[in-house]
Amino acid sequence: MNIILFGPPGAGKGTQAAVLTEAYGLAHLSTGDMLRAAVAAGTEVGLQAKAIMAAGKLVPDTVITGVLAERLNEPDCTNGFILDGFPRTLPQAEALSAMLDETGRKLDAVIEVHVPDEVLVERITKRAAETGGARTDDNVDTLKHRLEVYHGQTKPVLPYYETLGLLHVIDGNRPVELVTSSIKAVLH
Ligand code: AMP
Repeated sequence: MNIILFGPPGAGKGTQAAVLTEAYGLAHLSTGDMLRAAVAAGTEVGLQAKAIMAAGKLVPDTVITGVLAERLNEPDCTNGFILDGFPRTLPQAEALSAMLDETGRKLDAVIEVHVPDEVLVERITKRAAETGGARTDDNVDTLKHRLEVYHGQTKPVLPYYETLGLLHVIDGNRPVELVTSSIKAVLH
């Protein structure tokens, strides 16, 4: 099973992906985590991404698509994967379709975890306080920019998947377990 968890920053994609990977034995592919690891390791991609991420902007499509293409070739992805944070632009969505076609794979579902902006601002402020600012992009100013990027560049990807008949919208403004149950209901 290959699925995309789609939604704005703070929607709970990471939390849901962790539960679902465990339940279904899938690989959890978080491009944000991949980039944070690259920054920590000081790789070329990390050096390119560091300032962009701290500003809440998007890393260039060619860079992130290259990172994901490598990850998709790793053996744990053959059982299926959950994408968390990718695609974030239409060119990324098209590149993903091409990558999957080339390897004879397909997407089974795209799940949009829908949460209103004002709830996201509250959640991210709380996450920043709890993690002691471990994520340089978890602050209200950067979040506002990340939300603008989400609405301007990422949300417009949804019609692409709607046209393909893959899109399911879930209310993410509920307790974690209820969101998980709704996602599982879609996947069954
Ligand atoms: P996330 O952990 O998914 O919120 O991602 C953190 C940051 O990493 C984002 O704000 C972007 O700067 C960068 N990033 C993660 N995934 C992508 C992507 N698919 N395209 C471009 N930038 C990304």
